[in-house]
Amino acid sequence: MRETASPVLAERTSIRLGGKAIAELYLESENDVFLLAERRKQLGGRLFFLGAGTNILAAEGDLPVILVRYAVAGEPEIVADDGRTVYVRAGAAVPLPRLLRFCAARGLSGLEGLVGIPGSVGGAVAMNAGSFGCEVGPHLASVRYLDGSHIRDAAGARLSFGYRHMRMPDGVADYLVLSGTFSLTRKAKDDISLLMRHNFFEKKSKQPVTAWSAGCVYKNPAPDRSAGKLLDAAGFRGKSLGGMMFSPLHANFLVNTGKGSAAAAFDLMRMAEEEVKRRFAITLEPEVRILS
Ligand SMILES: Cc1cc2nc3c(=O)[nH]c(=O)nc-3n(C[C@H](O)[C@H](O)[C@H](O)COP(=O)(O)OP(=O)(O)OC[C@H]3O[C@@H](n4cnc5c(N)ncnc54)[C@H](O)[C@@H]3O)c2cc1C
Repeated sequence: MRETASPVLAERTSIRLGGKAIAELYLESENDVFLLAERRKQLGGRLFFLGAGTNILAAEGDLPVILVRYAVAGEPEIVADDGRTVYVRAGAAVPLPRLLRFCAARGLSGLEGLVGIPGSVGGAVAMNAGSFGCEVGPHLASVRYLDGSHIRDAAGARLSFGYRHMRMPDGVADYLVLSGTFSLTRKAKDDISLLMRHNFFEKKSKQPVTAWSAGCVYKNPAPDRSAGKLLDAAGFRGKSLGGMMFSPLHANFLVNTGKGSAAAAFDLMRMAEEEVKRRFAITLEPEVRILS
């Protein structure tokens, strides 16, 4: 296990905000997970499992958390093929775009809707990431994870998925994903590439994909009520404060324009939530994971 003292969240998150954690622990082998509990006791603070940091809004200052990263590298691999379904296993640290490229190159279909979502496989599983009507959950054949001090494997049918969250069997909500095995079907490579390209350009034209953000800041309150439209109608599209701004391209993206701060992000969010509540009697719920 490798360790860094006082890691800065602003350097580890796509929105580039956040103060210092106590330490960052890199698990370099599956066996390293068994060292976690002892090291946590020595360091004090709670563990926070960090993927690629693309869905995190961290507060400033000294945070009482120990960042844990499962850093076991490796390529996705086909682990079974029963003629109808192909099973691909990918480690939690594998970037999601790399998994999608692996699938596209082999004519494996199912995850095309996830194109353009940054982050790691572990983060996508934990968040049940999704877009274009496609979510990770239905394609997960199994997950390997750490639950307390036990490594477990759970079949997909035993997992419960919701809007941007996943629970392990028996309602376990605090787990570290080590790998996921995805069930996919065979399809013409050209069809997969075409759909991925289409989804990617669609996303790029509607979302500020290269700006410093953590993706959509709020969950959509209902399938027919998008948070972006509510924020827009409440006058928050393009609204800025202290270097933070609700994107003019997509109001549900809170963007750090360069000199933003977490304090300004929280202030702007509070203002938006109050206005949406006042105008529409709807309580917006953050989709980003707030780390404080
Ligand atoms: C430009 C942009 C576009 C985006 N578009 C989308 C989109 O269309 N759809 C969508 O769903 N999301 C989207 N996101 C959000 C984000 O990319 C996804 O939620 C992604 O799956 C998060 O992965 P990550 O590795 O960055 O996780 P992190 O941001 O590091 O963590 C997110 C959460 O997952 C947990 N987590 C991470 N890794 C693990 C692990 N190994 N074990 C257990 N828990 C873990 C963390 O504790 C945290 O609670 C977007 C983000 C950006 C910046």
